[in-house]
Formats: sequence, C-alpha cells, structure tokens
Amino acid sequence: MTDSSSRLTGNRERWTADWSNLTSEVVYTGLCTGCSGCIVACPYDVLKLDEKFWQPRLDDSAWVEDDAAHCSHGDRGCTLCTRACPRFRLWELDADFEMFGRARRRDEVAGIYQDAYLIEATSRQIAEVGQDGGLGTALLYYAMMQGYIDGALVSYVDKGQRTIPGVATTLEQLIAAAGSRYTYSANTLALRDATDQGLSRLALVGMGCQTSILPVAARRGAPKLSRKIALTVGLLCSKTFSEEIFEELFEERYGVSRREITKINIKGRLQLWLERDGEPDYLEIPLKEAKEWTRPGCERCPDFGAEHADISLGGIVSESGRTLAVVRTDLGHELLALMARDNWITVYDASVKDPNSLKLMRKLARLQRKRWPAESIAGPSHPEPSILPLPATKHVD
Ligand SMILES: Cc1cc2nc3c(=O)[nH]c(=O)nc-3n(C[C@H](O)[C@H](O)[C@H](O)COP(=O)(O)OP(=O)(O)OC[C@H]3O[C@@H](n4cnc5c(N)ncnc54)[C@H](O)[C@@H]3O)c2cc1C
Ligand code: SF4
Ligand code: SF4
Ligand code: SF4
Repeated sequence: MTDSSSRLTGNRERWTADWSNLTSEVVYTGLCTGCSGCIVACPYDVLKLDEKFWQPRLDDSAWVEDDAAHCSHGDRGCTLCTRACPRFRLWELDADFEMFGRARRRDEVAGIYQDAYLIEATSRQIAEVGQDGGLGTALLYYAMMQGYIDGALVSYVDKGQRTIPGVATTLEQLIAAAGSRYTYSANTLALRDATDQGLSRLALVGMGCQTSILPVAARRGAPKLSRKIALTVGLLCSKTFSEEIFEELFEERYGVSRREITKINIKGRLQLWLERDGEPDYLEIPLKEAKEWTRPGCERCPDFGAEHADISLGGIVSESGRTLAVVRTDLGHELLALMARDNWITVYDASVKDPNSLKLMRKLARLQRKRWPAESIAGPSHPEPSILPLPATKHVD
C-alpha cells in the first residue's frame, strides 16, 4: 500500500504507520479534530474518544510497557487507525484523488465542486426546524424515501442538552436531529449503532473533519468504512466549542441558562434565541468573546468547505431561510435534480441570485487554510509543484 505522494513519485512503499505514528504526528501535535475515524476503523475496539480533550485514547489493555502511545496490535501489523485519519500526512491529497481523481487547485480554497445553489425545503414542517433552508433534513428524508439510504448518522441533543451522535431512520428522528449545534458531535461514532441495527446504506452528516474520513480510508486501502456510507452531507464549518461555553460564557457572563436557549447561529457573531418565562428573547455575543472555548483541533483545521462530501451545506446567504448547497459529486447533483423535479425543494443558482455568498465562502475558506501548519511534522498538506504536476492557475479571490 502506498500513499498519494509515493504513488505520484513512483515510490511504492508498504503502509506501515500505526498508532504510535498517529499519536506523534496527529494526536499530540494539535492536529487531531476528534472526528473518531480512527476509533470506528480500529478492528480491536481499543480506542475511545476522550471528550474533554477531543482526542482518541488507547485502552490500557493494548498498551506496550505502560506506554499509551504504543499499541500491541500495531506491533503485529495493524495500521487501520492511520489509514482512516483525515489529518494524517497527505490526507487532503489522498481524499481529493479518491473523490475527484485530481488534487484541488490552489485557487479552489473551498475544495473541488461542480455547482452551488441556494435551496429552500418545500415542506413547512422541515423548513421550520432546519437551521437554514432545511435542505439537510429534506435531503436525508428524500434519500431514505427513494432507497438511496436506509439510515443517517446525525446529531441529537440529550436530556442534559449535550450534543450526541445518533442514528435516524424516520422523519420524526430526522426532525428531532435538525438544526445546528455548535458543540462537537462525532456522528461517525453512531456507525456502530447503525450496524447493530442492520443498516448498511447510510448517510453521514458532519463537518469536513468527519466527511473526509471516508475517501481518505478508501484511498489508503481501508474501504470497509466507506462501503457502509452511501451519501455524505458536509456542513461548512469554522469552529466548534467545548461544552464549557454554556456555563462559563453564556451563564456566568450573560446570565443565560442552557435550557433557555432554543437556537444558536453564527453570523459574524453568536446569535442566541431564547425562551424565558414563556417569552421569546434574543441575544448577540461578539464571536471574539467565545474564542477561548474553541476546541483545539479547530484551531488547526484548514477545511471550511467540508471539501470531501457529496454536498456541503452552509448558511452564509443574504436572505435567511435558504441553505447554500455546494454540489461536489454526480450523486449530489442527481439527488438535488430529483428533489426539484418532485417539488421537495426550490432551487436558485447561487452565482446569479446571491454571488456574495460564494465570495464569502471563498474568503472564509481562504482564511481557514492559513490554520494548517505550513509544514506539519510529516510535511506540507500539498506536495510542492515539482512533485505534483499542478496546472498553472491564478487566484480567483
Ligand atoms: C458546528 C457547525 C458549524 C457550522 N458553521 C458554519 C459556518 O461557519 N458557516 C456556514 O455557512 N454554515 C455553517 N454551518 C452549517 C449550517 O449551520 C447548517 O447546518 C447548514 O446550512 C444546513 O442547514 P439546513 O437547514 O439545510 O440543515 P438542517 O435541516 O438543519 O440539518 C442539519 C443537520 O446537521 C446535523 N448537525 C447539527 N449539529 C451538528 C453538529 N454539531 N455536528 C454534526 N452534525 C450536526 C443535524 O443532525 C442535521 O441532520 C455549521 C454547522 C455546524 C453544525
Ligand atoms: S494499531 Fe490497530 S488496534 Fe492499535 S489503535 Fe490502531 S487500529 Fe487500533
Ligand atoms: S483526527 Fe480523527 S482519525 Fe485522526 S487521530 Fe484524531 S480522532 Fe483519530
Ligand atoms: S473547524 Fe469544524 S471542520 Fe474543522 S475540526 Fe473544527 S469542527 Fe471539524
């Protein structure tokens, strides 16, 4: 097995990187996002997500000589965790080649895509619960109804109002999961529940750090994960916060308790919709005040556009009530065309109706690219042009 850089340079090397490489190059260097790709890929089930630090931890049953960074199964040749990690070495290049057959050009800051639309879900019930235009929920329900998928890995809120991953197979469940939470939900972790339920054609909804797992793993010879996922729905994303933000910022500084918050959005500032003593209320908080609660992996994350999904969805639109849909694959196109034909959605061409949304997406994506260390421990995220034959391009923004 080779990685993309060695394929490009013609060096065929066996893939030998295991947990010790993952810890030294990703987990302990601040690149880890907590996406849990390594955890669901691990065949011995010896990795668990530490939700305080949003990093995987090795069960002590697998330690070698009391070393939590040394896996006994790795010593015997297991390498699945590094194969599935979308922050390990040339992950972006691997995923680009797997999905699109080429690397993104440098001007494609939000990733490779075919078209972008503004979309409103027709169903009032769905539009009302959706974060923006309700496309995320409508798309999953349509794909279920048409037999493209038999379930979806989504995010719910538990009784203590914490964001948790889960499986949805009905409209009621999709509606319960609709809307955006700005604390992290490793939806990939719901894969095991879905498998236990006998589901085999799933949609994965998640931010870019999660949707990149599948093409990366497939490219590196671990296709088992992607075989169960028939559709990926990405969410544009610049950060998620640690749970402590509710108590330490909202409650202590603004006197807002968690159960009073009915919806949160980020539009240049934190917007909080509240219900207090039965009355609606609204609060805005400058985004810079929330900075200290940004999860560490997000500080190094270069992918605003959820660049490795069939469709990536965002709310950076001029008119509320619409979702920006960035269509990256033929499957994404096919589903939207069928939904429009069947009157499930109203579609506008983003470049005509709201060109500023695309400008803003590129601007935010370009800024976010700067977060990736110019040269991580294992090298740059893109090989230099001398290795990779990139076409000459000009920057578009
Ligand atoms: C953490 C986060 C940050 C975001 N940041 C931006 C941004 O900076 N700019 C931008 O334009 N758009 C951003 N988005 C996307 C935006 O908020 C909407 O999710 C998107 O526009 C789709 O809206 P919708 O009405 O079509 O989807 P909906 O119909 O509301 O469906 C949304 C889907 O997302 C899932 N979901 C909700 N919260 C989470 C979570 N925390 N983790 C994983 N899955 C979740 C739900 O389960 C649901 O299936 C972000 C989303 C999230 C979750
Ligand atoms: S080397 Fe294998 S067993 Fe060990 S953590 Fe990685 S995937 Fe799991
Ligand atoms: S980025 Fe994801 S796959 Fe990589 S080490 Fe962290 S949790 Fe595991
Ligand atoms: S910024 Fe968003 S996509 Fe990036 S690691 Fe954080 S949650 Fe994931």
